[in-house]
Parts: sequence; structure tokens; C-alpha cells
Amino acid sequence: MSREIKTLKTVAEMRAYGTERPLGLVPTLGYLHEGHLSLIRRAREECATVVVSVFVNPLQFGPGEDLARYPRDLERDRELAREAGADAVFIPETAELYPEGYTTEVRVRGIEDVLEGAARPGHFAGVATVLAKLLNIVGPDRIYMGQKDAQQSFLVGRMIQDLNFPTRLVVAPTVREPDGLAMSSRNVYMNEEERAAAAAIPRALSVARDTKSKAPEVLEQTVREEVAKEPLVQLEYVFAMDDATLGPVGPKTGEVLLSVAARVGKTRLIDNVVVGRE
Ligand code: AMP
Repeated sequence: MSREIKTLKTVAEMRAYGTERPLGLVPTLGYLHEGHLSLIRRAREECATVVVSVFVNPLQFGPGEDLARYPRDLERDRELAREAGADAVFIPETAELYPEGYTTEVRVRGIEDVLEGAARPGHFAGVATVLAKLLNIVGPDRIYMGQKDAQQSFLVGRMIQDLNFPTRLVVAPTVREPDGLAMSSRNVYMNEEERAAAAAIPRALSVARDTKSKAPEVLEQTVREEVAKEPLVQLEYVFAMDDATLGPVGPKTGEVLLSVAARVGKTRLIDNVVVGRE
């Protein structure tokens, strides 16, 4: 694809962008990889206009997290987004989205108490706030998000419903490296040895899924045992939950979301599989 990509930096520019509908938004923190590009390509197939936002949102990083060293390469992102079919990138400065005096926060209750919400206090308030702003600024008909961040995608679906955004959420499958590791901008933090060891995470998830059990204890214990075989990987949590509600698995549960967070050296990674989905 050889067409141009438009760079939009301000809210005013973004709002004035002459767009044909449907408009698809792919929100990202940048440092694009195949996971992001799969979302852009999907949006390209389904929408007349595709906007990719690249914004490392300080609100969703806690103290001591990797905000300062989060990988950034805007030029490369622009080029990759263009090749994947995006029409425009929206790349606001922090002060553009959070000018002096900014104080509003969006909270999606409940979500904050489990999984990444419990592990990273304040994270999902930051995510919900920036996504509510992006939905208002970009005004997309569809928003494309990844199964990789299942809880984040769930939160956006909830917020869209609760706040009546006229946007449809599309959740696309996790894109993986050949050894199964879920693609992530954070994978570059790992050295060679850590990177090889990290494959234990998706391996453990798939061994658990292959038990064909939907019992949380069985799934969680299988992941614990499998991850324990790789000394370089420290499991932070593993939880099996009802995929439809993110509540406990019960008699009415259809699909089970099995989620893990783990550390490989200093790098924190998350991943999940849905058990019971074809
Ligand atoms: P991020 O830049 O990490 O905030 O990710 C931006 C979007 O891309 C989110 O909706 C993620 O869920 C999605 N994403 C990240 N990694 C992957 C992956 N490996 N496969 C599919 N989607 C992904």
C-alpha cells in the first residue's frame, strides 16, 4: 500500500479530520508490532477510515512502573501503521490530553478489584479515562482491541455500554511469536535467555487448556506447575474466571478466561487463554 498517512497532533486537528464512515479506531501505546498491525488490518477491512492513536498514557502507569523507559519510535510506528492500511495517526502530546487544571477521572467499578486491577492500583482508572477521551475526540464507529489485554477489552465494552458511546467494540485474537509468546511492546526488555524462558507462559496456558477442565483449581494448579518448571519465570498470579462476567466460575459459566501475570527478570508480562472456545 503506497498511500499517505496523515499525522494529527491536536484534538482540534483530530476533530476536523474529514472522515468517511464507518470510522475505526485502534488505540495503542505505540512501538507497534504484529499484534497492533492485525488490529489495523482488521479495521482496514471493515472501515472506510482507520485512525491509529499512539499515546503513552501516564495515567495508566503506577509509581515504579515503566513509563519513562516504555519503548517509543514514532517514525517507525507511522510507517508500520501506513503499511497496515491506516489513514491517520493521532499522536497527541501529554499536555494536549491533560492540560493544566485537568482533573476528571473515569472509573469502571468492579474491574479494579481483580487481575490487573488488583495488581496495578489506578491502572484501569487511567485506561478508562484515556479511552473515554479518545472515544469523544475521535468519535469512532468501531474500536479495535486485543484479546491479549482481555480485562482492558472487557472494561471498554462495559464503559461503552454504561456511558452510551455510539461505538462497537471489536476484540481480535492474540497474535503470538512462533514459540507462543504473546507479542508485546515490552518483549524488547528481555535478554536472550529471558526471552527463551518466557515461552513457558503460553506453554503453561495451553497445557492447562488441554486438560479440557473448566474447574478453576485444575486450570490454575496446572499453570502453577508448568510455570514452576522454568526457574527464570516468576508467576505473579493465575486466575480462572467467567469470561462473560469476570466473576467467579459457576454453573452458568460458558467460557473460562484463564489469565496470568508473570515476571521474567524485571519484565512483567500478561497473557490469557479462553477455555471452552473453539
Ligand atoms: P498496547 O499498545 O499494548 O496498549 O496495545 C494496544 C492494543 O493492541 C490493545 O487493544 C491490545 O490488546 C492490542 N494488542 C497488544 N498486543 C497484542 C497481541 N499480541 N495480539 C493482539 N492484540 C494485541
